[in-house]
Amino acid sequence: MKHYDVIVVGGSFAGLSAAMQLVRARRKVLLIDAGQPRNRWSPAVHGFLALDGMAPAEINAQALRQLQAYPSFELVRGVAHSARKEGDGFAVEWTAGASGALAQAGAATAAAPATAALSASAARLVLATGVKDTLPAIPGLAERWGRTVLHCPYCHGFEVSGGALGVLAAAPQSVHQGLLLPDWGDTTYFTQGLHEPSAEEAAQLQARGARVERVPVVELLGSAPQLDAVRLADGRVLPLHAVFTAPVTSMASPLAGQLGCAFDAGATGPHIQVDAGQQTSVPGVFAAGDAASARHNGTLASAAGVLAGVSAHASMIMGPM
Ligand SMILES: Cc1cc2nc3c(=O)[nH]c(=O)nc-3n(C[C@H](O)[C@H](O)[C@H](O)COP(=O)(O)OP(=O)(O)OC[C@H]3O[C@@H](n4cnc5c(N)ncnc54)[C@H](O)[C@@H]3O)c2cc1C
Repeated sequence: MKHYDVIVVGGSFAGLSAAMQLVRARRKVLLIDAGQPRNRWSPAVHGFLALDGMAPAEINAQALRQLQAYPSFELVRGVAHSARKEGDGFAVEWTAGASGALAQAGAATAAAPATAALSASAARLVLATGVKDTLPAIPGLAERWGRTVLHCPYCHGFEVSGGALGVLAAAPQSVHQGLLLPDWGDTTYFTQGLHEPSAEEAAQLQARGARVERVPVVELLGSAPQLDAVRLADGRVLPLHAVFTAPVTSMASPLAGQLGCAFDAGATGPHIQVDAGQQTSVPGVFAAGDAASARHNGTLASAAGVLAGVSAHASMIMGPM
């Protein structure tokens, strides 16, 4: 089994940033990535310094090109399905093959042996596998995800601003979205029968000029991904330009669970518990990005990846902290 200093699982904002610090420290790094970043539904990343407006796949491809200039970097396209403690380090097994961003990037990959088991070991692991979204089950919603059905006004609010906007309540913090969104457009907060604002929140929404609609949205209308209107359960049709909602999130990979990492509860779902240096509850296993944070954002994921990479490097010299 080939041995590396660090195996990084997940090759998007967090994993690529971790790998960059480690190869610059001249450590042998294997990056395993399935090429399915969470924001792949979106045509452009916004709010990321110097990269505003670039396509997600383009950003990852550019980062990979830069990583591949370092001789100690290796990439495999595949899905890591098992990770376990082995001796002083860790062993990871994966299934080869992936489509998506890495394939589009045309990135050179480490040759996958035809018959040998696909596995490798490393002194340290960085989990940067992200989360997956479960969207509200409303007809017409899923096919607009990342275009006119959005999760974050800072990421996409500017592009849909000026028109009639909606918040489809899906979590207690949806009221918070309803309070922010009037800065981007004329806002209706749909309780969906799930999250009725408190008296105080209702007063705040009113002060912000946001309407509260208690009849649930049952369908999104228009030629997807465009959104023209929503149909309510009582048959009314309300013109809307875009809606914001909070999907339920869950781990995109089982690896942290297999390794016995502790989890914290987040606003939309669980995330891996990490310390100030991004180390998980399992010494030698680091985690970064959406998988290890309640705050989901490209810049924050990248910053956490940098920290995970630096901490993993330091821990190989000074021992797990
Ligand atoms: C629709 C949408 C639009 C967004 N727009 C913006 C925006 O404009 N600006 C912004 O700052 N943020 C945006 N975000 C948030 C941003 O996408 C995330 O915060 C960011 O992608 C998190 O990066 P990450 O590296 O942690 O995870 P991800 O980007 O999700 O990447 C995880 C990677 O790990 C891989 N992986 C998972 N499991 C395995 C496994 N077992 N084996 C191998 N590989 C695996 C995945 O295939 C993927 O490539 C958006 C999110 C969504 C959903």
